[in-house]
Amino acid sequence: QTQKETLGFQTEVKQLLQLMIHSLYSNKEIFLRELISNAADASDKLRFEALTQPALLENDGDLRIRVSFDATANTLTIDDNGIGMSRDEAIAHLGTIAKSGTGDFLRQLSGDQKKDSQLIGQFGVGFYSAFIVADQVDVYSRRAGLPASEGVHWSSRGEGEFDVESIDKPERGTRIVLHLKDDQRDFADGWRLRGIIKKYSDHIGLPIQMVKEHHGEDAPAEIEWETVNRASALWTRPRTEITDAEYQEFYKHAAHDHQDPLAWSHNKVEGKLEYTSLLYVPGHAPFDLYHRDAPKGLKLYVQRVFVMDQAEQFLPLYLRFIKGVVDSNDLSLNVSREILQSGPVIDSMKSALTKRSLDMLEKLAKDKPEIYAGFWKQFGQVLKEGPAEDFNNREKIAGLLRFASTHDASGEPSVSLADYVGRMIEGQDKIYFLTGDSHTQVKDSPHLEVFRKKGIEVLLLTDRIDEWLMGYLTEFDGKSFVDVARGDLDLGALESAEDKQAQEAVAKDKQALVDRIKSALGEDVADVRVSHRLTDSPAILAIGEQDLGLQMRQILEASGQ
Ligand code: ADP
Ligand code: MG
Repeated sequence: QTQKETLGFQTEVKQLLQLMIHSLYSNKEIFLRELISNAADASDKLRFEALTQPALLENDGDLRIRVSFDATANTLTIDDNGIGMSRDEAIAHLGTIAKSGTGDFLRQLSGDQKKDSQLIGQFGVGFYSAFIVADQVDVYSRRAGLPASEGVHWSSRGEGEFDVESIDKPERGTRIVLHLKDDQRDFADGWRLRGIIKKYSDHIGLPIQMVKEHHGEDAPAEIEWETVNRASALWTRPRTEITDAEYQEFYKHAAHDHQDPLAWSHNKVEGKLEYTSLLYVPGHAPFDLYHRDAPKGLKLYVQRVFVMDQAEQFLPLYLRFIKGVVDSNDLSLNVSREILQSGPVIDSMKSALTKRSLDMLEKLAKDKPEIYAGFWKQFGQVLKEGPAEDFNNREKIAGLLRFASTHDASGEPSVSLADYVGRMIEGQDKIYFLTGDSHTQVKDSPHLEVFRKKGIEVLLLTDRIDEWLMGYLTEFDGKSFVDVARGDLDLGALESAEDKQAQEAVAKDKQALVDRIKSALGEDVADVRVSHRLTDSPAILAIGEQDLGLQMRQILEASGQ
């Protein structure tokens, strides 16, 4: 099929374009970063495919990105000689959004410009950001390996539809021509473009070229291209030479995120295994953090050559929010997802990268507690999956957890287990906790009375996952955890011998009453006992030592079991 066809954008794309065109973006120049980022991805993909099919390079292995402009025509062009797109690919990739959860995301949009622009910043708009500055976008592309006659011309004004037609395109790769809006003419300017490229794309490991400008001199007849970025992959450079801003820009490219990361860790490992890793903690949870098929994992390079995105094998699931790059010298270039499943190299890298990630979080918690509190709000729930998944690092993960407690009336999850242990009273050798549905529900629980009286702190756990978490967390710093809502609460050394004797005397005394209550309640309860944990309330319902906790009961009941 060569003739022109007009197709409609996917509904989600239409909605995004609407937002884009009404320019929720205050920072319009980011469109260039997006288009350069795509061109760099396309070059990475070509380099990788060419490993097994050298013919794809078509005798032109010098990959580069070229940015040019025509101030008279008011156009801006981004040209790459990467993998390119076939007609079908152009239709699929530039007409729909493949990301899972797009619908969910769009439903969150409120119509409030400020809120929405933040959300959309998280979502990342990639190619469609071209419409922030252009009222028409033309894409000319040919996929590596296809004949010149199988090029494609994609064109749209961003208004719900796009045209595609087949064209002749002898050069492999993609050329994107932006017809700038009248009020965006400023972008057709060499000095401005160089500035934007330096600012956002210096870290791209591929030359980004512009035509050399000759001011006042005699311009040579032939145009000369010069490289305007540094063009060496960021992680290959020494740490000391990389600025924070460069680390942040690289993160945005690698993670397809628009917000700054909270922390990063850049390491070169030498010895038995050789690899470089650059790991990041994002600033916010993606909207699809809990989608089963949401993207996760690191970008994998082998000896500087891009091999795959979303290599999930290098980190456990509970660290699925960590982003970054790993560049290995030990893996083979034709490594596949299957090969990555396991093996001594992968196992050893995974355990080292897990440890690095946990160390990075530990450092963040220690050095910047307020930022860590923000991190905890976004990702704490995921980290709570850790003790169950990663037995070996249980203690380390436990140190990163934050809980609400009777020590802090705000109900904020601000207490670490180390804080708790530091405040334990004399004779206390257990960590006490209470679970429930909400802070309001647990904070005045009668279970807490005896603890309040003795001045003992109790952790208040009200996340759905907490009870399950506590099933895997048996100890911290040598102290075991005790659910204060359970059966015989043994306060150990916290109770004096006289206390105990007095309690036993009372219990004996009240045996007749206990028997009467027992026969009245019958099958509804397992046992009735005289309690010493109450100071104000007359009675309390406790859970047996071996029984399911309340949250688990509710979860099971809700699921019909
Ligand atoms: P993302 O980069 O997050 O995948 P984009 O909206 O930026 O999302 O791009 C959508 C898709 O369009 C890319 O995944 C890619 O398949 C395709 N694409 C965009 N630009 C190019 C390009 N220069 N060369 C080849 N394919 C491209
Ligand atoms: Mg992109």
